[in-house]
This record gives sequence, C-alpha cells and structure tokens, in this order.
Amino acid sequence: MDFATAKAVIDGIQGPFRIQLAGGEPLLNFDLVKRIYAYAKQQRKKVLLALQTNGTLLTPGIAKELKEMNISVGVSLDGPPEVNEQLRGKTGEVIRGIKYLAEYGINVNLTCVISVHNIGYLPLLVDYAFYLGNVKGIGLDLLRKTGNALENAVPEASPDEISHYLTEAYQRTKYFYQKTGRHIVIREIASARKRLERGIAAHGYCLAAVGKAAVVLPNGQVYPCGSLAGRPAYLMGQITEPLKCRGIPLPNNYFPLCETCSYGKICSRGCPARAIINNEDTCFSLQDCAVRKTAFQIVEKEKRFTK
Ligand code: SF4
Repeated sequence: MDFATAKAVIDGIQGPFRIQLAGGEPLLNFDLVKRIYAYAKQQRKKVLLALQTNGTLLTPGIAKELKEMNISVGVSLDGPPEVNEQLRGKTGEVIRGIKYLAEYGINVNLTCVISVHNIGYLPLLVDYAFYLGNVKGIGLDLLRKTGNALENAVPEASPDEISHYLTEAYQRTKYFYQKTGRHIVIREIASARKRLERGIAAHGYCLAAVGKAAVVLPNGQVYPCGSLAGRPAYLMGQITEPLKCRGIPLPNNYFPLCETCSYGKICSRGCPARAIINNEDTCFSLQDCAVRKTAFQIVEKEKRFTK
C-alpha cells in the first residue's frame, strides 16, 4: 500500500477507530506503519493501531518502535513449535520475534487456525503460550478453503474434537491461573462469558458482518472483510470515493438447530465470509457451532460450581 491510500483511510475516519494492519505481512513495509502512526497522531485522530504479523521479521529495533507507538500485536501460531513448523514453517523466527516483543514489554495475542492437524495440540499450545510469558490471549479461527488449505485439501477438525480439546485447553489456562495468577484468555470463551453475563443479543458474527468494519486493499478497493477481497459482488468502492459500509449478506439465515438452542438469543452463529468462501449455502456450520456451544457450556458449568 502506498502512503496516499493509507492517508485516505485516516482522512476518512471520524470518531474513535481501530485500524488493524494486516497482510500479506505488514512488517514488509514497516516504514508505512510508522507513517500511518505519525500521520494519525499529527491529525489528532483517535485511532488505535493493531498489527497482525507472522512474526518472522520482528527485530529488537522494530519491537522498540512498536512499543513507542503503542501498537498492539497479534501473531499467527498454529500450535506448539513442532506442530507450527509442519503447518506454517519458520517457527524459530516466530518465537524469536515473540521474545523480542517480550523484551520490550509487549504482550501478544496468538491466532491459531484449527484443523484436523492441530486440534489435538490446543492444550499444548496453551502450555507453550504460558512458557513464552508475554502471551495474553489465544484466538481460534476455523479453516477456510483458500490457499494452502484448498490446495492440500486439509480436513476440518470434527465438532467432537473441537469440543473436547477446547475444553482441555481451557482447563490448562485455569491450571496456570490457579498456580501463578497469570491469565491466558481464550478469545471464544471470553466472548461467550460476556454474552452470557451481559445477555448481549445475537447481532451478527463480527463487526464486518453487520457493516461496522471494512478492509482496504493496497489498490484502495474496499471490502467488508479481507476474506472476500477480489470478489466483485462484495466490492464496496474505492477509499478515495464516498462510500457506505455494507454488512455481509448471509448465505442462509435460517438455522433449524438454533431455533431450539438455549443459546439461540445470544450466540453469534457462524462466520458468513467463511461460508461464502467454502461455497456453503448456509453460514451455520457444525464446527462453528461446536466452538460457540462448548464455550457457553464451559462458562455455565463454571458458574454452577462457583455459586
Ligand atoms: S450454539 Fe450452535 S445451535 Fe446454539 S445458537 Fe449457536 S450455532 Fe446455533
């Protein structure tokens, strides 16, 4: 992305906003990251910057500058080292990068794409995250049939596996918390807790799904979600033109199982972009359901025991 496009994004912002710099790999263009920060500051925009990186290009110098710019960092890691090495590679560089961030007091959130190949290692990923010392959370993404997953026909984890290992992973976070007082938050369980406690109504899967987020590509095209980039049906316009954010139309909004589910009123259901990419005619998926339902059940069970 050139600076003119990034500048157009910042100029268009009114009110508090969160910008996530993602890729590809945003650290390939760290100068642009710094210019975005400096320009937003100069324009007195209320912008929170976040960076999603594969971590391999992090250096002590970059970590120091990220700290100075107060940019939050997310790193992709699909399992403990030996598993991530098989699935993504360059694990040594990623771990070195996370340690540089730790040296400058930067906490990170890990993002893990779950599939049949790594679901059984989810509890070990929690252990490894604890060992790293500066991981504050782990978020789970379900597999999308694009890129490597499509080429190699990577199978999805089954709903039973998701339920079992998500529960075990949460037990590990509790164990570490009881022993040391350090929390590693599993994003999906934290979200379920919030929804159960506050009774937040189901309002769509994410901000993009309801037209409150957008992705700007290097060429200035705007889409509701990065996963839908390049699909003309979802193009919302150019960042240099006036545009209105649209949500992501659901492939099918009727899920019979949800009608009778006790979490039906608060559940976010499945990811519509994932359903579109996977060519599914409904955005209900048994995998998504297993994540949501297991998370709700973990929180409810815990509440029963602490009463
Ligand atoms: S937990 Fe599953 S069945 Fe229940 S509302 Fe959510 S997606 Fe539907």
